[in-house]
Amino acid sequence: MNETIEAENLRKVRKELMTCTYCGFCKSVCPPFQKVGWDSSVARGRMVLAYGLLQKDIPADPSVLEYLYQCTTCKDCERRCPSKISVVEVVESARRDLVAAGHMLPRHKVIAKRVAQTGNPYGEGRSVPDTLGHAPRKAKVGYFVGCTAAYRDRALADATLSILDKLGEDYTLLNEVCCGSVLQRIGVPDERVERLWKRNVSSIQELGVEKVIFSCAGCYRMFKEEYPKRLDLGFEVQHVSEYLAERRPDLGPYEGTITYHDPCHLGRHCQVYDAPREVLTSIPRAELREMPRNRETAACCGGGGGVRSAYPELSKAIAGRRVDEAAFADIMVTACPFCVNNLKAGAEGREAPEIVDLVQLVDRLL
Ligand code: SF4
Ligand code: SF4
Repeated sequence: MNETIEAENLRKVRKELMTCTYCGFCKSVCPPFQKVGWDSSVARGRMVLAYGLLQKDIPADPSVLEYLYQCTTCKDCERRCPSKISVVEVVESARRDLVAAGHMLPRHKVIAKRVAQTGNPYGEGRSVPDTLGHAPRKAKVGYFVGCTAAYRDRALADATLSILDKLGEDYTLLNEVCCGSVLQRIGVPDERVERLWKRNVSSIQELGVEKVIFSCAGCYRMFKEEYPKRLDLGFEVQHVSEYLAERRPDLGPYEGTITYHDPCHLGRHCQVYDAPREVLTSIPRAELREMPRNRETAACCGGGGGVRSAYPELSKAIAGRRVDEAAFADIMVTACPFCVNNLKAGAEGREAPEIVDLVQLVDRLL
């Protein structure tokens, strides 16, 4: 465990590592750093650790793993970085090198094994369409549910299905497997991740689907940003907030103050900021009031990057701080099952607004 590693992936981002001036501007935003407090837990520290691994100056010991795996991949540091360093790419490159050298966190090993065995990180034996009771069929629109909504937060999947039904959409569920996001975030080799991409794309294409709708920000980001790097999709990709903004359903009134939490995967990673706000501002009598940190500057919920599974207490503490920022609102809306779950965990024991996904609120008012 205390040996140096071959850092093939870090070699490819060497220029990024050499560009960091260690100015520390990233300190003001990094969510785990604000909790942990050590320089090793901010982007600048992770640059030092990654460089040390690359140069074989430091071994891949447990503390190095811990700090490299505490990054939620929220991308907020990249916004602040004057040198425009691709911090997330560096962190994920380091993780791929650590995994290739046999260093994987125990919780992540379980997840990777479950995906290999069952096609989902929860180890569930039933397919997503079987779980939700909708057999896939030929249709123009497909709904990619995502593993968390299908197996752990069914209310989100049910709300999305209900919306599609109420809007009279001709849609189908898909023979989906994990989108690969969690594996890519924790450093599983690209070949294994891309096998999932190919399975998903071919099963979607077989159904003649022209547009796929996503209620999970993480799955959406994969199809929007990552899959097209290697595959020709042949279908349109839309987050459910974009779909709703386009369809403009007539919603009933909501008497209260709404605030919106931008999921990092949807916001900073995919620049989808307007669509969810267009939907929320279309609700009669509701007041949409922003938290001080919103859109590009939105604080992370702490749930991403494999942090929730490996360091649940850290993840929860980060979420708690975000929930406090929303204390003025009656309802805190987001657009990702991971954010919903993590923000709810962070809200435990606090004065907090109701926390729901956009699809749940829309379904309620439709
Ligand atoms: S802001 Fe950028 S250049 Fe400055 S220390 Fe952080 S990663 Fe390095
Ligand atoms: S991506 Fe987020 S968690 Fe990771 S180093 Fe940057 S600010 Fe910190």
